[in-house]
Amino acid sequence: MSSTKDGIMIILSSPSGAGKTTLVKLLAKTKNYQISISHTTRKPRENEIKGKDYFFTNKKDFKNLINKEKFLEYAKVFNNFYGTTLKPVQDNLNKGKNVIFDIDWQGAQQIKNKKLKYKLITFFVLPPSKEVLFNRLSNRDMKDKVIVEERMKQFKKDVLHWQNYDYVVINDVLENCFKEICALIDSEVNKTKNGYNLKFIENHVKKLLV
Ligand code: 5GP
Repeated sequence: MSSTKDGIMIILSSPSGAGKTTLVKLLAKTKNYQISISHTTRKPRENEIKGKDYFFTNKKDFKNLINKEKFLEYAKVFNNFYGTTLKPVQDNLNKGKNVIFDIDWQGAQQIKNKKLKYKLITFFVLPPSKEVLFNRLSNRDMKDKVIVEERMKQFKKDVLHWQNYDYVVINDVLENCFKEICALIDSEVNKTKNGYNLKFIENHVKKLLV
């Protein structure tokens, strides 16, 4: 059983470019949540800081961590490995700190399946439209059109996982999306009703898949 003193786990997943990483950083800063720092075999981007954005590692070291069963979850995403080590997560939760995860649908599913004793709330972040997503991805990886195309193709597949999450939120205006996530977390923690509109989300997903 989870103790009331334990922290809670909050997962944010999304198709690439929906703005989830910004939301995670905002939640961490404003709400004092601990961000779970993942290991990855992907090369660092220019603006990324080792040990803050990711623990950048090679395939051999990553496989070692797998063999030693250090991961709470891990997955292959866009040809690279990404994983969350269990110990720092558990340490924070046991100290009463809330932990926020920026991970893909495979990792979210694995954590759900583990049925840990801590409360878990999962969010799937969607863009307002495919056009907005394309623009966001193009701005981020301007130099690499191939990556943008690859991620747009992946988008349609990733969207299909929305049903496995507790809540789907649309990141149009960042501030509004952030407030919605905070309100939903509060309603879960305080066991109060919220205005979550599943029908609206179903329609939005339909539009994205056209
Ligand atoms: P990026 O390379 O753009 O930083 O991340 C690519 C994808 O990998 C994103 O959807 C991100 O959420 C996901 N990701 C990052 N860290 C992890 C992790 O530890 N586990 C899993 N399963 N996915 C992760």
